Amino acid sequence: MDKDIQAGWARVRGLLRAGVGESTYRNWLKPLTLVECVEGTVRLSLPTRFMRDWVANHFGERLTELWVDDDAPVSAVEIFVLAGSEETRAVEPRIPESPDNNGLKLNQRYKFENFVVGKPNEFAHAAARRVSDSPGANYNPLFLYGASGLGKTHLMHAIAWQIHTERPDHSVVILSAERFMEQFVRALKAKDIMSFKERFRSVDVLMIDDVHFIGGKEATQEEFFHTFNDLMSNDRQVVVSAGKPPSSLEGVEERLRSRFGCGLVADINATTYDLRLRILQAKAAAAELDVSEKVLEFLAHKITTSVRELEGALNRVAAQKELVGREITLENCREVLRDLLRPNERRVSIEEIQKRVAAHFSIRISDMHSARRSRAIARPRQIAMYLSKQLTTRSLPEIGRKFGGRDHTTVIHAVRKIEELRAADETFSEDVNLLRQMLEGD
Ligand code: ADP
Ligand code: MG
Repeated sequence: MDKDIQAGWARVRGLLRAGVGESTYRNWLKPLTLVECVEGTVRLSLPTRFMRDWVANHFGERLTELWVDDDAPVSAVEIFVLAGSEETRAVEPRIPESPDNNGLKLNQRYKFENFVVGKPNEFAHAAARRVSDSPGANYNPLFLYGASGLGKTHLMHAIAWQIHTERPDHSVVILSAERFMEQFVRALKAKDIMSFKERFRSVDVLMIDDVHFIGGKEATQEEFFHTFNDLMSNDRQVVVSAGKPPSSLEGVEERLRSRFGCGLVADINATTYDLRLRILQAKAAAAELDVSEKVLEFLAHKITTSVRELEGALNRVAAQKELVGREITLENCREVLRDLLRPNERRVSIEEIQKRVAAHFSIRISDMHSARRSRAIARPRQIAMYLSKQLTTRSLPEIGRKFGGRDHTTVIHAVRKIEELRAADETFSEDVNLLRQMLEGD
């Protein structure tokens, strides 16, 4: 098989692996085998249909994205079952031809119709719409900035799709600053800088994503500066994205920063609860996920960092249902997302739990450590042990020690007892939830 394809597969695998947990990789992705590449379609096999469906559902798009982002000449991915008796229908659709973009195929999902608009991003969205309606006119260059995972790349692809649809003759090039630099360096090495210049200066729309990457790369900045000026003086549209506004780009020459800032600068702000919830609703509906409104609200409330994280959380919750067939409830949501939620959650100590529970039941904190066994004391103590297990990362023996040097089996017993009581008695269960919420500070 083509060496390029094999090398591409090694890179794609590496990126996949870096992006998922070790067990997901081992169980589902490692068994993927590269079989062949026919006319730009990479064919990967898996041993069973169950695996094939799951991987295609959860990683099909990602795989396609990684491949088309890679240098290897690949435009689609098929996953099939390699076993005589099983059907071998491919499930991942081919990507239809997307605009000529120097190798990068546009992401199918990154269109305006899939972009949920709210207060934090309405300005950037309106600017992106305007630019795609009349490229090279007023808002030139368009400089989009915002923290990671808030939709910059999505908006840039959306602009490209839109222009491609309405003006099929326009040539649109979209690539990361990193890739721009790589191509530039390659051209330098090959002493072929002329065709590099030619390629970038003949386009109608040039979009450079994550431009902060060229910070400190002087030769690349120089080249970009000239490309930029050339395009601008010919009324070609330039769109640039970055993590920060032009004036705060470190290691970027002043003349380039001022060029970035001379058109329209639009920021994407941190998400709000309302936007997060609507994004989750849109994504759950699009993927036909059977997730309750309560769970979506919980996710929107808890995962506040970025839309990317939010999508990840929703995917994981959905995968859990698919794999284990368990209904998605708030409880197992917390469990599945434990590692994601932790950084968002206030850390609670066992001492705080003891204090809060003791106050709630009007007993003394010292009773948490004492040997007294009357129910009025023992039950709150068990609740505190249960909450310590749920809300902290302490081991069972550690928890036992903090409760007057009790054995870890006592802690296990307490956890089981409280779970039983919660299952049997709704009022009791709500009481425990209330305590938990107070401790988590929400
Ligand atoms: P950035 O480039 O700013 O780091 P991306 O554009 O890659 O962020 O967005 C991360 C993920 O979140 C993508 O899958 C994207 O589709 C999704 N996303 C971000 N904002 C929105 C939005 N407003 N509506 C729908 N999806 C969004
Ligand atoms: Mg991006």
